[in-house]
Amino acid sequence: MSVKTLNNYINGTLCEPASKQYLNNIEPATGQVYSRLANSDAKDIDHAVDAAETAFPAWSTLPAEQRSRWLQRLADAIADNHESLAQAESKDTGKPIQLARNVDIQRAVDNLRFFAHAATQFSSESHATDSRTINYTLRQALGPVACISPWNLPLYLLTWKIAPALAAGNTVVAKPSEITPYTAYLLAQLCVDIDFPPGVLNIVHGTGKQAGAALTSHPKIKAISFTGGTQTGTAIQQAVLGQHKKISLELGGKNPFIVFAACDFEQAVTTACRSAFSNQGQICLCGSRIYVEHKIYEEFVAAMLAKMAQLKIGDPQDPTVDFGALVSAQHLAKVQSYLELAKSEGGTLLTSHKTLNLSDRCQHGYYLKPTLITGLDSRCRSNQEEIFGPVATVQSFSSQSEVLKLANDSPYGLAASIWTQNINQAHQLATDIEAGIVWVNCWLTRDLRTPFGGMKASGMGREGGFEAMRFFTEMKNVCIQYK
Ligand code: NAD
Repeated sequence: MSVKTLNNYINGTLCEPASKQYLNNIEPATGQVYSRLANSDAKDIDHAVDAAETAFPAWSTLPAEQRSRWLQRLADAIADNHESLAQAESKDTGKPIQLARNVDIQRAVDNLRFFAHAATQFSSESHATDSRTINYTLRQALGPVACISPWNLPLYLLTWKIAPALAAGNTVVAKPSEITPYTAYLLAQLCVDIDFPPGVLNIVHGTGKQAGAALTSHPKIKAISFTGGTQTGTAIQQAVLGQHKKISLELGGKNPFIVFAACDFEQAVTTACRSAFSNQGQICLCGSRIYVEHKIYEEFVAAMLAKMAQLKIGDPQDPTVDFGALVSAQHLAKVQSYLELAKSEGGTLLTSHKTLNLSDRCQHGYYLKPTLITGLDSRCRSNQEEIFGPVATVQSFSSQSEVLKLANDSPYGLAASIWTQNINQAHQLATDIEAGIVWVNCWLTRDLRTPFGGMKASGMGREGGFEAMRFFTEMKNVCIQYK
């Protein structure tokens, strides 16, 4: 099997890194190296930022209608290559091909189309102060901006950042995760194919510590849009302290999934299972702390285990598989270490799969059975730290006030899902819960116009809709007095 080379995309051209050094990229389903990516450093970042700076005046002054058309063209190119991109995403991440098709690649197309429309819909405010004074507010593009994305939803989250940045008139240097660079490379190829304006979008591969750090601290970068771990977000904040850049941070989560006895039981169980184990539990929004009202606790855990038994685990390429491999050997080891920790903290591990029964091709892949943990106290590390794998804890509660306290007893505040037929209870909890996103009787239902992001250790700022367009622009108020 030939090993593919994933080069950078700078100033409209695919190019080698300055150092000519590459990193291995592994297919999680098999544990085999299948490509190598540019191991970029500060020289490549300088090159990309220079290209973005040069392209900025023309791109930012292009009529919004034309910027919109470029984004639509890119969306069309992704849509035309939907299947090959889905295959690539599944291979690179270990996620089931069905998920890559229906969620990841579809959403990349949707992100670009949504912000193509936003470019032509975005507006600003004016204030008629008195009969002879008017204020109007300009929202102007910033310049070259950095978009840094993680490995769990590679093309989905990369396009979620670059689309609003470009729609608002900025030029972009993107740094995809070094663990899953493949679809970002294929996107660069599509940009070349459609003659996307050179320098407007640049994609530089490499590690966070080397390429990522050089990008965020680059003096010409005006804003940083980052999605990833809380520790990395904090490191970036500290590294750019005093540089006066705009920063948006979408970080980790440890999301409560709250089930009252008065709920649609079947729907709650099905969704709890999907919420805990989709993408092998590697979604920032996964419900990883499940709280069930004591009256239905035993029944709920049994029903969840029955649902988990239906999950088909195996080769992500198989279209009937629901649950693939974890993203890397290191990540698998981290999640396994949390299972050991949970046992030492007094937890009981429950799973519906005795063995994994993998095909020959997958013998060396990074697989782990979906697992529920019961019997843990809410203060223990297993309930406080983000595990980011197919592992959820389950606890029982007796009252609304108790479960609110448990849900908020976390350093994180990204998302919550509440299951109840009592509308007052739903509104009360939605108001009091410390999370940027609250779903009632649903999970992961998304409208791209709504603000997306978390509070506390889950981040700073919001993405989505016009919030993203506002982040990627600088406000300037103009006050005019006339006779
Ligand atoms: P990570 O923080 O390790 O890496 C994210 C990106 O940051 C990668 O591209 C990496 O190369 C880069 N990076 C690392 N160190 C850097 C540095 N010092 N300077 C600049 N860039 C640097 O995160 P990950 O392991 O790739 O992703 C998993 C995490 O992402 C989880 O915590 C998950 O909850 C979080 N996440 C959050 C959201 C959200 O919207 N809130 C969405 C998806 C994932």
